[in-house]
Amino acid sequence: MKQKHHYSMISLGCARSLVDSETMVADLNKVGFEIVPEGTSEQVTILNTCSFIQAAIDETERNISQLIDQKKEGSIQHVVVAGCYPSRFKKEILEEKYPDIDLWLTTKEEYTIQNELKKLVFKKKFTPKKPKPYTKLTPSHFAYLKISEGCNNWCSFCTIPKIRGEHTSKPVQQIVDEAKLQIALGAKELILIAEDTTCWGEDIYGKPSLDILVRALGELDVDWIRLMYIFPPRVTQELVTAIKETSNVIPYIDMPIQHVNSDLLQRMNRRHDQAFLEKIMDMMVKEIPNLVLRTTFILGFPGETEDHVNEIKTFIKKYPFAHIGCFTYSEERETRSARFTDKVDPEIAKQRVDDVMKTQYDLLQTRNKSLIGTTLDCIIEGPREARSYREAPDVDGIIILDKETDLAIGSKCTVTISAIDHYDLVGHLN
Ligand code: SF4
Repeated sequence: MKQKHHYSMISLGCARSLVDSETMVADLNKVGFEIVPEGTSEQVTILNTCSFIQAAIDETERNISQLIDQKKEGSIQHVVVAGCYPSRFKKEILEEKYPDIDLWLTTKEEYTIQNELKKLVFKKKFTPKKPKPYTKLTPSHFAYLKISEGCNNWCSFCTIPKIRGEHTSKPVQQIVDEAKLQIALGAKELILIAEDTTCWGEDIYGKPSLDILVRALGELDVDWIRLMYIFPPRVTQELVTAIKETSNVIPYIDMPIQHVNSDLLQRMNRRHDQAFLEKIMDMMVKEIPNLVLRTTFILGFPGETEDHVNEIKTFIKKYPFAHIGCFTYSEERETRSARFTDKVDPEIAKQRVDDVMKTQYDLLQTRNKSLIGTTLDCIIEGPREARSYREAPDVDGIIILDKETDLAIGSKCTVTISAIDHYDLVGHLN
């Protein structure tokens, strides 16, 4: 009988998980397995999962149940569940809960996907096929580069250090090689990601060394290099100088702050206080021209009061954040913060999210007016959508084009901003 090598991949969660999915696809391509769209000719479905909070676990479990139904109906033969979900829970428990899942792979076992799939699908009779070319799961004009694995920060609310393990940096040459591959595949923008990108190099050079990597990547022929997941205590003068001096590193920083009140920062085990945060914010804003800032906040952390929320509102009035994401605190059983007893009612936490977002919305209506009349280098993202260095893919808004364009997605262009539309900008193509 002719061997079938078709599988589909469902990738849940963040960009870091997407990079893991792309790595598994690359490994499978090497022996001729072929990724196909879901619901077509696949024999196996790989579900790469997220599980850092309960909402993500719920989504993962909904997907698992659907895939089990498909297996029972006979439309797929095997289901593989990989990533954060099997890394967070004991395999014995998962095997008992979901006996129809054929294979569980933790984040540390994903590198075995090639051998495991050969065994699963073909038993001992696997015949390798011609390797398939590299398959991107993101559009070709940008690429996420995962520069390290794991996290040692142990923020008191976070499950990721337990799920993803100790921080380990990829060597600089490996990252440069991965970047070159992505550029050859058409990437005009490289987006550096990790649990904490500023921790990069600590295990190699004995201190946070993202500046070294930034300067090495800056030598490459790529338009934009974007830094995400900056952890405040590891922002150094060397890093700020490297961002400023490396022409293709765009003045955009994503630094998840989570909170600004010093007592809560201590309870969150964030390793800094508000005074330190303000010091590095002042340094970045002063030294990096045209800096665009993105951050996230957690509202409703145990012990949070209205005064603490007001501190966040004062902070975002003081510093020019272009993009803010607010989330309600999610209590995760195995974290230290789950032991705090002074919990905030989830409904109040939701109101606080709305309150901070309303403040940000009002601020943007004034701040973004100053962009009207300016012209920005952009990349086309759709017939009516473009993106400048100010907007990261997937998480920030877009620039709405006032007229439809037939330029291909990924084309470079310039757009003059003519209006604002809620959180987004509106502009015309030049
Ligand atoms: S820095 Fe904190 S919030 Fe981010 S992954 Fe590490 S422990 Fe979690």
